[in-house]
Amino acid sequence: MVHRPVLGLDADDTLWENQAHFDTAQGAFRQLLSPWATGEQVDASLLSLERTNIGRYGYGVKSFTLSCVEAAINLTEGTIEAHQISQILSTGQALIDHPVELLPTVADTLHLLGESHRLMLITKGDPTDQHRKILNSGIVDHFWAVEVVREKDPHTYGALLQQHRVEVDQFTMVGNSVPSDVLPVISLGAQAVHIPHHTTWGHEHADDASLVGVDFPVLDSFSELPALLAGRFLA
Ligand SMILES: [Mg+2]
Repeated sequence: MVHRPVLGLDADDTLWENQAHFDTAQGAFRQLLSPWATGEQVDASLLSLERTNIGRYGYGVKSFTLSCVEAAINLTEGTIEAHQISQILSTGQALIDHPVELLPTVADTLHLLGESHRLMLITKGDPTDQHRKILNSGIVDHFWAVEVVREKDPHTYGALLQQHRVEVDQFTMVGNSVPSDVLPVISLGAQAVHIPHHTTWGHEHADDASLVGVDFPVLDSFSELPALLAGRFLA
């Protein structure tokens, strides 16, 4: 029996809107701290703390919220008040409670992709948060497998392929993040497609050195994926 090839799909900012909601929350946070720090200072402090805290808290809203609280304490030199901390917590809770908004064309395109590929949703982040979004997305039935991973690195992708008995040359990953969805997959010898989103978290920007000698298709929209894959796998 010949298995269909496997298409790995990132979720946040590939299938549904995510970073834009964080950007809005961060805007409110900048506003809250404006008596103490400039917007640039708030952004820099927060990104630095988020990076430090990935090892402790992982990715996602809870990690973002705890990093905001820590940044607020640092930038106000401990003078932030409880009602202001409470405001930060409310912003985080609103992010968690926000309904899932699929990106345009995703539902129809998944239907087409599922005819030619086994679809594997591969997302990183807080498991509770990610599983809730997956369940509320209304698209879970399209997926052959769903994986919420701690980190998207070559080791994780290699382990997933082994676990699901997928050969490297039968796997293509698609996502909005070059460091998470593209480079680690190409390093394994599999294929990857980049679909940039209109806004990207600072931590997910690839540095120029990591892109030297690496070539991968870049699409404007998720809806262009079936045509690209048809050309690739019919060849
Ligand atoms: Mg993403």
